[in-house]
Amino acid sequence: MRYLIAGNWKMNGSLASAKALTEGLAAKAGTASKVDIALCPPSPLIPLVNAAIAGSALALGAQDCHANEKGAHTGDVSALLLKDIGCRYVIVGHSERRADHGETDAVVKAKAAAALKAGLMPIVCVGETEAQRERGETAAVIARQVTGSLPEGATSANTVVAYEPVWAIGTGKTATTDDIAEVHAQIRGLFKAGPDALRILYGGSVKGSNAQSILATAGVNGALVGGASLDLEDFWRIIAACP
Ligand code: PEP
Repeated sequence: MRYLIAGNWKMNGSLASAKALTEGLAAKAGTASKVDIALCPPSPLIPLVNAAIAGSALALGAQDCHANEKGAHTGDVSALLLKDIGCRYVIVGHSERRADHGETDAVVKAKAAAALKAGLMPIVCVGETEAQRERGETAAVIARQVTGSLPEGATSANTVVAYEPVWAIGTGKTATTDDIAEVHAQIRGLFKAGPDALRILYGGSVKGSNAQSILATAGVNGALVGGASLDLEDFWRIIAACP
């Protein structure tokens, strides 16, 4: 199965920095890569990034979409428009969206369904908080989020799941490889439609220095990378660490 390394730039970047970063990555990636690579910039930067990746092995993703196709939803972006402007992937249910915007599993499921309908590949994020892990609730939280967030019609060919322990995002802390393997195996078991081929990414403070051991962990098929995806050399080290 091909690995996927997706860079989530979050609310970072300018015209100048996005151009420099994307052009640098496109030059390194060339026209073919053994790994799928996706860049998920803030929406206003999508056209610039799309132009800069033309002809390269890089693909484009967005950080969120609305569940509806169009309408009175000020500030939101539809999956259809993201597809129209060149996106292949869209992240849904990131813990920052769940926390900052109160997104429930039902909302995430509706967004993922809209992505599938538009022909985008949703990257559906799940993960426990530190308090939930300390209370021994990790498996229950993951089960609830996976079953509640994945839409009808999700298959291993059209959907990616990202396990992102909330306490590991942007903190420099990472889950142990044993914990990652355990949760990925659980997610695979919960995914009834083609579990063997399901791509499950790990996310949470992945960087060049720890990528090799994380990406070699059983059941890990790539990474969703936040902070380190803004650094050309560090992001490339992660890509190069894929087995
Ligand atoms: C993320 O936001 O998806 C993420 C994993 O962030 P970071 O790599 O900075 O922890």
